[in-house]
Amino acid sequence: MENQSDLCCQECGTKVDRLPTLVEYEGQEIFLFDPVICKNCLLDLCNRFSVRCENCGGSIPPYSQVGVLKADNGQREFVHMNTACSTVGNAFYGYLGKGNLHHFVEIEAC
Ligand SMILES: [Zn+2]
Ligand SMILES: [Zn+2]
Repeated sequence: MENQSDLCCQECGTKVDRLPTLVEYEGQEIFLFDPVICKNCLLDLCNRFSVRCENCGGSIPPYSQVGVLKADNGQREFVHMNTACSTVGNAFYGYLGKGNLHHFVEIEAC
């Protein structure tokens, strides 16, 4: 069994009792296993790094899955990865991190 007793928040060093860290941000539940971040820091990150969904206008919190669109000017636009917001035009998807994408995957073959 995994020993979770000495997990510490990567942001502030506070002991994190158990994973995932669960917060609710603007009506969306966020479960975070990796990295280890405490509730307060995760909420803080949500406030600082969430991006706007181009489709519904809602916020997409960090460490959640996003669809990525390329805008005409070369900038990336993000949409929720759900049936309501994700469209067939999505060229990419990934996980949003702190202000950028990590685990960024291209799903369009050609
Ligand atoms: Zn923390
Ligand atoms: Zn959306």
